[in-house]
Formats: sequence, structure tokens, C-alpha cells
Amino acid sequence: MSDRYASFANSVAGHALIKRLGLPDPPRLRRYRPGDPLVPGPVLLDGAPGGRLREPVGKLLAAAGIEQRDAETVTADPTTGRMPLNSALVYDASGITDSTGLRALYDFFHAQARALHPSGRVIVFGTPPEAAGSPREAVAQRALEGLTRSIGKEFGRGTTAQLVYVHPGAESAVESTLRFLLSGRSAYVSGQVVRVGVPPAGTSAAPPADWLRPLDGRVALVTGAARGIGAAIAEVLARDGARVVVLDVPAAGEALAGVANSIGGTALQLDLTAADAPARLADHFAERHGRVDVVVHNAGITRDKTIAKMDAARWDSVLDVNLSSQERINDVLLERDLIPAGGRLIGVSSIAGIAGNRGQTNYATSKAGVIGLVQSMALVLAERGITVNAVAPGFIETRMTARMPVLIREAGRRMNSMSQGGLPIDVAETIAWLAAPASGGLTGNIVRVCGQSLLGA
Ligand code: NAD
Repeated sequence: MSDRYASFANSVAGHALIKRLGLPDPPRLRRYRPGDPLVPGPVLLDGAPGGRLREPVGKLLAAAGIEQRDAETVTADPTTGRMPLNSALVYDASGITDSTGLRALYDFFHAQARALHPSGRVIVFGTPPEAAGSPREAVAQRALEGLTRSIGKEFGRGTTAQLVYVHPGAESAVESTLRFLLSGRSAYVSGQVVRVGVPPAGTSAAPPADWLRPLDGRVALVTGAARGIGAAIAEVLARDGARVVVLDVPAAGEALAGVANSIGGTALQLDLTAADAPARLADHFAERHGRVDVVVHNAGITRDKTIAKMDAARWDSVLDVNLSSQERINDVLLERDLIPAGGRLIGVSSIAGIAGNRGQTNYATSKAGVIGLVQSMALVLAERGITVNAVAPGFIETRMTARMPVLIREAGRRMNSMSQGGLPIDVAETIAWLAAPASGGLTGNIVRVCGQSLLGA
């Protein structure tokens, strides 16, 4: 569904009017298009003394051919007094070991806050508080979250701001995350905290031979892929080189075949809630591919009613499609050893599963359960070299959100730092990052794709 307000706001006359009236101003977001560079201009890199990330990040930027600037040498234009503009501000805060050291962040961002292009990127690196060497250090590192979340709300114009906690020893595992967060692929991801750990034994976060086709040779399953977000996920995984099996209910067979044909993939018509679905799914992969490297549990339904008015069938169907069927499928794929080391399980939760939502007790329960699945399975699956993460979309322009009452839909679109809804591609790009072989250090993460929605923030 098109966002007519955003189109109007991006016209010359419309922009002038909404500025005058003080209405939300949805910027045009920098989204990735094949052939785009990672960032359109220089990156300003700085850090507190003693940090672990500045040097490796500087090397990665250099290897990617990105022009770097140094906060110590960059100077304001003598006539305008302005700092030169950057595409990203990257700050290594891992050297900050107590709260007084946080002042370094003020000094850096106060000086550079205006030195960022529209759709700029702010990335702060830190140490996970639970891995800090002392309570003082843990406090300072935890405090970083307030800074990045506020910058996401403050800078506007399509800027995204993230905090990346890198576990000591995982410095070499940050490249896929750095690339994703700098690029236009993360256009609708902001205010997030990402944890990068040491990849499980026997696996790695080594860079792919080709960053444009990181999933070459991988086999992927995307459920609920006949339309909407699922179709976009299938397209992006195929673009990134995966052989994709798209799955949906038989009633959506025609649309599903269309998606499969457009990406050179295979269609599998299956109702996930059927008793024999896990076995049939496992048989399909065992016979055709011998394995499945990337499992994306995207299929989902809503059956909204307040709990007092909700019949049991609405509760049961939503819990079964959105949560229980995924558990049954995971169990069979794992029991039959069809997900090899290096495998990726990716769930699709929702900000409703974080914030709760009136009329959605069933949906929010199922989506909070997806978060529980990620958190409870991360350690267990690490022993097998498999990562498990989820995305939690906010308001995404699909048929699901087109069905909302108009006022709720408008509120959903505007109540975030981007003043607009996201697109299915935004969720798909985030999933592709989590699916990539180079993302071996990412497990147990819930990444919201919500433009920093105020709900549950
Ligand atoms: P959609 O309704 O357009 O697509 C969902 C797909 O899942 C459909 O093609 C449907 O046929 C399929 N499906 C449903 N039940 C199935 C079953 N039993 N077996 C196999 N396939 C089944 O929805 P969407 O907006 O693209 O959402 C995709 C996912 O993203 C869902 O999990 C949804 O909860 C989640 N999500 C969406 C939004 C949003 O704003 N659109 C926000 C948060 C989360």
C-alpha cells in the first residue's frame, strides 16, 4: 500500500507546507540498490583511548575502500565554521571503563552532530556489560544504550544509530555487522543493540569470496513466501546467491509459483500446521538438497479480538501458525541432522511481541514466544554451530497492515524516528545479514526493523 502522505511530504510544495505546519517529515531513506557503494562518502572514525575496536574497524573500512577521516585531524571550514560532512560517524567506546569516561562521547558527538549527510549512520562499539571487567565498566558500557537510542531520535533525516556490543575476542567477527549497518540495507533499522560474540567452535565469521553473493552454495527455506515480507525475503536471499525453497499454503499456490519462478527457486505447498508438515518438509530437503542451511520462519497470521471477545479458535490458530508449528519443524530438522554447522535459524517476531498490543493477546503471545525461542535455543544450538536470531518488524507496508483501520495505520506509520512505515525489503535485508556465513558471531539477537518505533522502545 502506498504512503500518500510521505509522497506528498517529499514533493517540493508538500515539504514546504508540512514544515510550516510542524507535521511529521518523513525523509527519503537511503535504501540499497545493487551496485551502490557501502556508503556514499567518508566515514569519521574515532574512539576512547584503550578501545579494542578502532584499529580492526579502521582496517575493515580501508579494505572496503572507504575514505576515513580522523576526528583529531578534521577541522571546521574557516569561512562557514562547519565540520565537513560524513556518511557515518563510528565511535569505539570499548575503552571507557567508568562513568566519568563517558564524557568522551559528549565531546565527539557534540562536535560532529551536524557533520552527517541525510540517511547518515551512527555506530558506537562497546563491550557487553556482562563481559565487562568490573561493575564500573559494566555501568559505563550499559550507559551507551541511552546515547545511541537518543541520537536515533534526535538526528532525524533518515539517520540510523546503533550500539554494537562486541564480546572480547570477537573483534574479527564484526565485518558483516559493520557492513550491514553502514549500508542502505539497514535503512529502517535504528536504535538497536546488537551483540557480536565469538563464533561457535568449528564455525567462523570469515568474509565470503564475494560480498555481493554471500549465500552462494547455501540452501534456504522461507515460509509464508507467496507474498508480502516472505516474498521479499526469498528474493533477497536468492539475490545473495542462495538456492531458495519457498513455502506457503496450497491456497496460495499460484502466487507461490510466481515467486519461485521469479527467483529460480522451488515452491513447496504445505500448511505448516498440518500434522505431517514437519516430516514432509524434512523429506523434501533430505531428498532434494541433503540439508537446509538457512531456515526463515516467516509465515504468520493475525486473528485480532480483545481477549474477552476472542474465541478459542482464534487463539489456537495464531499460536499454532506463529509459534508451535515452528518448534515442531525445528525439532524434526534438528533430529534428522538436516541443519549443518554454520546453519542459521531466523524467526520473525514483531514489536507487538515486545510492547503488547490491544486486541492482539494471541498474536503478541506468539511473537513474544518467538523471542523466547531465540533466547532459549541460542546456547543449545551453539554446540552444533548453528545460530538463532529473530527480527521484530514494526509497521511494514504489506497486506497485513493495509487491513488496519485508517487511524491506527496512520499512527503506526508516523510513530517512529523515520515518520514512515518500512518496506518488506527492509525486513528481508536484515534477515539476509543474519543469514550470511560471515554473521557467525551473531546469535540470540532480536533485531527490530521498526524505524525506532516508540512502541516498546
Ligand atoms: P502476509 O499475511 O502478507 O503473509 C503471510 C504469509 O504466510 C501468507 O502468504 C500466508 O499464506 C502464509 N501462511 C499463513 N499461514 C500459513 C500456514 N499455516 N502454512 C504456510 N503458510 C502460511 O503477512 P506479512 O505482513 O508479509 O508478514 C510476514 C511475517 O511478518 C508474519 O510473521 C508477521 O506476523 C510478521 N510481521 C509483519 C508486520 C507487518 O507490519 N506487516 C509487522 C510485524 C511482524
